Amino acid sequence: MKFVPYWLDSITSVSSTSLSAFPAKADVVIVGGGFTGLSAARTLAKAGKSVVVLEADQIACHASGRNGGHVNNGTAGNFQAMVGKYGLEQAVALYHFFDDAVDTVENIVTTDKIACDFRRCGKLKVAWTHQHLANLRADQEAVKQYADPETDLLDREAVTAEIGGSTTFEGGILYRKSAQMHVGRFGYALAAQAMKAGAQIFENTPMMGLRRVGNVFEVSSSAGVIQAKNVLLATGTSRKAPNWFRRRIMPVGSFIVATAPMPEDLFARILPGRRNVVTTRNIHNYFRTTEDRRLIFGGRANFSQSSEKSDIKSGQILHTALTEIYPELASTDIDYCWGGNVDMSVDRLPHAGEWNGVTYAMGLSGHGVQMSVHLGQLLGRKLAGEYVNIPVWNQPWSPIPAYGIAAHFMPVVGAYFRAKDRYF
Ligand SMILES: Cc1cc2nc3c(=O)[nH]c(=O)nc-3n(C[C@H](O)[C@H](O)[C@H](O)COP(=O)(O)OP(=O)(O)OC[C@H]3O[C@@H](n4cnc5c(N)ncnc54)[C@H](O)[C@@H]3O)c2cc1C
Repeated sequence: MKFVPYWLDSITSVSSTSLSAFPAKADVVIVGGGFTGLSAARTLAKAGKSVVVLEADQIACHASGRNGGHVNNGTAGNFQAMVGKYGLEQAVALYHFFDDAVDTVENIVTTDKIACDFRRCGKLKVAWTHQHLANLRADQEAVKQYADPETDLLDREAVTAEIGGSTTFEGGILYRKSAQMHVGRFGYALAAQAMKAGAQIFENTPMMGLRRVGNVFEVSSSAGVIQAKNVLLATGTSRKAPNWFRRRIMPVGSFIVATAPMPEDLFARILPGRRNVVTTRNIHNYFRTTEDRRLIFGGRANFSQSSEKSDIKSGQILHTALTEIYPELASTDIDYCWGGNVDMSVDRLPHAGEWNGVTYAMGLSGHGVQMSVHLGQLLGRKLAGEYVNIPVWNQPWSPIPAYGIAAHFMPVVGAYFRAKDRYF
């Protein structure tokens, strides 16, 4: 078994810019070479701006290259709860913002001819219990009426057929606009396209300081100091971001295993519609298949942040959960096991705006594959001087309560939710 993301192991990496070309000035410095930063870089470079991306590690090597590859529409939180909190108009706008995000990914894949197996496969949200199904039914009715006519409630029989013989679930919602892709191939192609358009991407080059001098920013990095008119912080869960952001983002570990390629006959039975699946448990699972006949199965197995030790422990927990749904995969090898940290915000909504003159996009809360690409593109257009409407722009963003100690309580929170899933 390999303890690296399947997405990054199965492809050739892209070459970044040589440090010898490190410039003294740029129109925009982007901090972070995940999907948010790369998408913004591609847009800005295509608009003729000089762009420098500083990436502390490697291109797309954190959340953007470690996720489940679901490009889902629909918001992270319950639609009715959003209507209650923000009103119908804003809840519908937020719902459609995610539809637009999936469209943006599709447009980039089509325009740049990226071979990343992008498919509008649809997403199934499946219910473990009768009560979960009742909750899904109520939410789906509201979603269908106000935001997305392309959703349907499926009964137990229909979900059993969709999942591929597993009778674990009581029913579920089908969201037809959702998609999936190979995120490693997409990320490297996004970087290659940004560089082809003129962006410079420096790997292993952390930003170490940021200050305003007159009407420009001075960004210090391990490769030197660079001046820029604008700075975009696209740093995900980074603990090296300014304190204001660190207080608003909780890095929550999420973990994934990938099976070995299955024999044709077995693969034909597992998830025959090749859809994305998300379960309703508090400690939920998400899964999908790949072109080369693997099952990619993830979840918040273990309430700690990703590390070598917790990735291995989580891999074992995930294997148990996987065989609970698919007993016939009990003897299928697990080829890959990895983890990563999700950038959770308290309201589980993405946040973008301006802080002390610096532009940012973060807090994508597990629904970030599509939203990072979309926000990156919108912010790129905005920084290039275009007017763009961003529904989450400069919205109130609450800090994590007791942020300094919250992380220490995650295992206790995890034990509570595990017990709730088992006994209630
Ligand atoms: C295990 C897992 C599964 C997930 N599954 C899904 C899924 O199936 N569908 C979905 O929609 N979302 C999913 N997500 C969430 C999604 O992957 C993220 O929301 C999205 O990739 C965030 O992109 P980003 O560019 O904002 O951040 P990142 O990809 O984390 O990129 C931020 C980059 O900034 C760099 N950086 C940080 N600080 C500095 C600094 N000081 N100087 C220079 N560089 C710096 C980091 O090195 C990093 O490369 C998942 C996340 C994880 C971890």
